[in-house]
Amino acid sequence: MKIKIVRSILEANDRIAEENRLLFKEKGLFVVNLMSGPGAGKTSVLVETIKRLKEKGVQSAVIEGDIEGTEDADRISALEVPVVQINTGGACHLDANMVRQAVQDLELNGAKILFIENVGNLVCPAEFYVGEDMKVMVLSVTEGEDKPTKYPLMFRESKTLLINKIDLLPYLDLDLEKLKNTASKINPSLKMFDISCKTGKGIDKWVDYLLEFIN
Ligand code: MG
Ligand code: ZN
Repeated sequence: MKIKIVRSILEANDRIAEENRLLFKEKGLFVVNLMSGPGAGKTSVLVETIKRLKEKGVQSAVIEGDIEGTEDADRISALEVPVVQINTGGACHLDANMVRQAVQDLELNGAKILFIENVGNLVCPAEFYVGEDMKVMVLSVTEGEDKPTKYPLMFRESKTLLINKIDLLPYLDLDLEKLKNTASKINPSLKMFDISCKTGKGIDKWVDYLLEFIN
C-alpha cells in the first residue's frame, strides 16, 4: 500500500516536471538542479559561477530552496540576478510543483541559465525530477570518502560532481583518488571537477564546461 502511494506521488511530480521542462525550453533556459548535503557550499559555488558567467555575458537566474530563511537568496540577490526564494516549510527537498510556482514569480531579464539550489540534503532531492536539464552535485572534501557508498542515488543521478573546498585537503586525511574511484564505480559517466570557492581553483574549468550547454 505504502509503495503504491509513493509511486503515485512520484508520477504526479513527473507530470508537472515535464510541463516545467517544456516551459524552460520555450524560454530558452538551460536549467541546473544543484544538490548537496548541508554546508557543502552550494551557494558559494553559485556566487562564483554566476560572477564568471556574467563576465562572459551570460545572465543567470536563481531559485533558492531552503526549509526556512532567506540568507542564501540574499547573497545571490547582491549579484543583481533575478532570484526567487522557496521556503519549503519543513520539506527536505524541492518538488516540481514548488518549482513551477517559483518560476511564475521569476523575472528572467534575459537569463540563459536557471540554477535551482535544492534544499541541503543528500537523500531525497535526487528522487524528485523538477524539469531540469542537468543535476549537479556539490560534495565538500570535509564530508569524507564514504559518501558515494552511503548515498549512491545522488551520485548516480548527477551528471556532474563538484568536489569543493579542495583548499582544505592538506588538513584532512581524505584520499581524493579513492573518493573519485568510488564515485566512478557508481556512475561511470560522472564528470568531476576539483574546485575551491575560496581560492578560485577549478572554477573556470567548471564554468567553461557549463558554457558548452548554453546557447
Ligand atoms: Mg544554500
Ligand atoms: Zn525530502
